[in-house]
Amino acid sequence: MHEFGIATEIVNVVKETVESRPVKRLVSVTVEVGQLAMVNPEQLKFSFEIITEGGPFEGAEMRVETQPAVAKCKCGFEGALGDEDYVCPKCGGMYELLSGRDICIKNLEVELEDES
Ligand SMILES: [Zn+2]
Repeated sequence: MHEFGIATEIVNVVKETVESRPVKRLVSVTVEVGQLAMVNPEQLKFSFEIITEGGPFEGAEMRVETQPAVAKCKCGFEGALGDEDYVCPKCGGMYELLSGRDICIKNLEVELEDES
């Protein structure tokens, strides 16, 4: 299950990001997942729950947003792809993928320590 590896990396990045800040609690992580990244959002959330259990991020919610795949082709096609469009939907050739294969952390929602 490669979602587990991805979730582990996300948790590591979140750790590094909040380490030097007065963060009391992580509320949520929003992750943007490309439509063609071959990631199952439910499994990703489930992995995140397992990894954060018992640790400082326990109870944080993971939100997964899907980023649509957009491609451009030499035939002139440029636009969004369907889930099964492994070749250009217009000419059947190889397209150039402009977006839709990446996984990135879009937003972190945190509760900060009281300043007082
Ligand atoms: Zn084409």
